[in-house]
Amino acid sequence: MARFVDSHAHLDATDFDADRAEVLARARAAGVDTIVLVAAPRDLAEAARPLELARTDPDLYATVGVHPHDAAAIDESWWPELEQLAHDPKVVAVGETGLDYYYDHSPHDAQRAAFARHIELARSVGKPVVCHVRDAHVDARRMLDAAGVGRAGGPGGVIHCFTGNAEQAAAYAALGLYVSFSGITTFKTAGPIREAVRSVPRERLLIETDCPFLAPVPMRGRRNEPAFLVHTAEVVAAECGLSIEALANLTAANARTLFSLTIP
Ligand SMILES: [Zn+2]
Ligand SMILES: [Zn+2]
Repeated sequence: MARFVDSHAHLDATDFDADRAEVLARARAAGVDTIVLVAAPRDLAEAARPLELARTDPDLYATVGVHPHDAAAIDESWWPELEQLAHDPKVVAVGETGLDYYYDHSPHDAQRAAFARHIELARSVGKPVVCHVRDAHVDARRMLDAAGVGRAGGPGGVIHCFTGNAEQAAAYAALGLYVSFSGITTFKTAGPIREAVRSVPRERLLIETDCPFLAPVPMRGRRNEPAFLVHTAEVVAAECGLSIEALANLTAANARTLFSLTIP
């Protein structure tokens, strides 16, 4: 059976409180046996939740960071604790951070300041940065390029839940970044995103659920979960002209490289 890595999941979300063990069992049954739990805490008290969950299971890994939506809420006093968490061996990346000019939940200057700070944290702990970018590709690319993310000597990085066009995806890959595709890739209207899949060099491709959000077709509208990654994988595999097993192996190997995962 194909074995997948879900490179971006919010399994610490309260949406999973009632049945988290069953969700993990269904993930394993579907071949999704390694999951990166990405942090998007509302406040500092929630920042360690993905890590606490990852510590309960050898196949789970965590990240530490604050979502761009909440950039304006970050207090200077949070950083020492975020940095301490980022050093933990089970923490494999810093984020999710980035720029979201679509929802605009935090002022752009606060988002840019937080993004720059996350990139510096990633550099200092020697881990990659998980980037959320929506309607902000020009600024994001400029900041990533200036900071040397993706280049030799700089931190690695991934543009998660990619929703731009083929040209933008290729430009991130050219910087040395990974590009991760979510359930949105399966939506009928997502022709440009499927085109973007084809523009990313295979060694830069990742797949994710971003659950509980963005369930892929045919589960669209339901709560998303790691087991549904298979549906996104089928669409990405078809775009790449690969079998589902080859796509699983490829994206798992890419995730292992980016996040320095130890997968048996
Ligand atoms: Zn995101
Ligand atoms: Zn996310």
